[in-house]
Amino acid sequence: MTWPLEHIAIAADLCDAGWRTHQIAAELNRRFGTAYTKNAVLGLGTRRGWAWEHGIEARRQRAAAEGRAIRRSAPRPVRRFRAPCDPPLAPPRPRSMLDPAEIPVPQRRQLLELRNTHCRFPYGDVGTPGFFFCGAAGADFAAGIAYCPAHCATAFAPPRR
Ligand SMILES: [Zn+2]
Repeated sequence: MTWPLEHIAIAADLCDAGWRTHQIAAELNRRFGTAYTKNAVLGLGTRRGWAWEHGIEARRQRAAAEGRAIRRSAPRPVRRFRAPCDPPLAPPRPRSMLDPAEIPVPQRRQLLELRNTHCRFPYGDVGTPGFFFCGAAGADFAAGIAYCPAHCATAFAPPRR
């Protein structure tokens, strides 16, 4: 794109006056019916070595000259998962707090027997004889609740200090 000299001169003046690239583009477009973008103005100024007034360094220098610090935006809070029964990424290992002997045999389920409301808390190691899932009612796997209430409380207990 070739810039008409008149447009370049006006853009340079506006840049010297501290206008920002999108403001310069809008002003040129208003005056000349053009369709400059802020990036076009930025490219022009960069090629010509203009000193943009709105860079972080310029802001820092202005702030220092005025005896104030640049206000930085507050850090965003870290998003934490709080839902106690979000589906775990991997099945948690069984805890000694819940003895497998406490799970009635008719309640126990194998993988292909699991339904939406069956608890998926595992006992034993997957693929080994004797492995089973808790199978108690109270889960809602489709809604992201993989365990019965008792296993939710066990699996997602806060760490001990
Ligand atoms: Zn359970």
